[in-house]
Amino acid sequence: MRVNDIHTDTELSDVARLFFGDDFPSVSLEYDGKTFTVELPEKRYEFEYADDIYGVIPPAHKIGRLSKIAVYDALCAFTGRDMAWGALTGVRPSKLFYECLRSGMDNAAAVDAMQKIYRVSGMRSSVLDEIIKAQKGKVEFSSEYYNLYVHVPYCTTRCSYCSFVSAPIAKNRAQSQQYVKLLCDEIMRSKDLLRECGKKILSVYIGGGTPSALDDDTFAELLDAIGDLGCEYTCEAGRPDTVASEKADIMRSHGVTRVCVNPQTLNDKTLAAIGRSHSADDFFRAYDTVRARGFDVNCDLIAGLDGETLDDFVKSLDGVYALRPQNITVHSLSKKNGSAIRYRSDENSDISKMLDHALTHVDGYRPYYLYRQKRQAGNLENIGFSLPECECVNNITTMEETVGVMACGAGAISKIFENGNISRFANMRDVSLYISRYDEKLTAKLDCFRAAFA
Ligand code: SF4
Repeated sequence: MRVNDIHTDTELSDVARLFFGDDFPSVSLEYDGKTFTVELPEKRYEFEYADDIYGVIPPAHKIGRLSKIAVYDALCAFTGRDMAWGALTGVRPSKLFYECLRSGMDNAAAVDAMQKIYRVSGMRSSVLDEIIKAQKGKVEFSSEYYNLYVHVPYCTTRCSYCSFVSAPIAKNRAQSQQYVKLLCDEIMRSKDLLRECGKKILSVYIGGGTPSALDDDTFAELLDAIGDLGCEYTCEAGRPDTVASEKADIMRSHGVTRVCVNPQTLNDKTLAAIGRSHSADDFFRAYDTVRARGFDVNCDLIAGLDGETLDDFVKSLDGVYALRPQNITVHSLSKKNGSAIRYRSDENSDISKMLDHALTHVDGYRPYYLYRQKRQAGNLENIGFSLPECECVNNITTMEETVGVMACGAGAISKIFENGNISRFANMRDVSLYISRYDEKLTAKLDCFRAAFA
């Protein structure tokens, strides 16, 4: 096998991007059936990988994964640096840990394999071990159950790092009402189809955007369409300035069980700089409003925000820990196309320390799910922490891809798990197109599910 220039190979160029960002040098790879040869400017590296260690990699993936490991090993030698997640560039490192367990390893051997095979650091391998233990009994594959996901693409203002489809609600009030009418129809017809086909709903998640940015009547109309399904039911109310008592009462009366109220940081100066229209005090008020009504609460924080120090991050984390929400999710800043700020190689230099701090100062919480994104500052991760037995089943089953997703709304992607296959159906991403092509796309989506269920 010869890959003359890894710029042309997505998987291999993702490895180079870990070290150099988008501007990486010429790297070529050759495999002659025994030796991987990696050539870099004025350097040449050769590697052979013995089967006694790498034998756990399934044959169909072996050359591809070893090629990534070879490029990673060469770049470590070339730059003198290594990465917390080693040669891994995928979204779900836990899947490889599960693969090791399925091959017959126990947890300790799987921790060892993550380090020896994929070059994952000792700390990250141990975190995976804790996550897999926290997921025990909550992650079994099932084609009988589906998660219902509902997307609301409106917010109060746009955060500077946002890459989602999200429009300011104040300028789009009339469109949001028209959108929700169609969304309610999609939800009801999607629920009907699941019921007709003998499928059950495991959990509901309303995300966005900021669903609570809708006006009260429109919000209640949406929750009426979903109904109280008697299962775990999360509603994102990420912007604390959208959580008044009326909104919280509507959620309570419609069966919502879990609410996300996201400070992102408790530093008011940063909140203003990243374009969020609320203060830390607004967050504390919103938190009290939802906790007073008995909801489980998740709070998101972001590590690596521009201008924040490790001390800023620790203060935010400690401030949130002090409230004892059921879940805390720590995101590493991701700067993608579509956001006002872009990926830079001069990202916040404290981000690794921030994540390491979060992983080592858990204060009664345990990590329970994790995912990574491309262009994530420091090549790190997003990680969810939970008080014991308060883990969000939707997050676990969606992230580990063990339960399918019936997704409704603009840009929402359904995942259909049938007969060992995963198929996807993407709704129109643009809200205007979602509205104008609603009938045609809904028919196509329901047909896609019916064909898979047949
Ligand atoms: S709250 Fe979320 S969806 Fe809304 S603008 Fe900010 S990052 Fe984007």
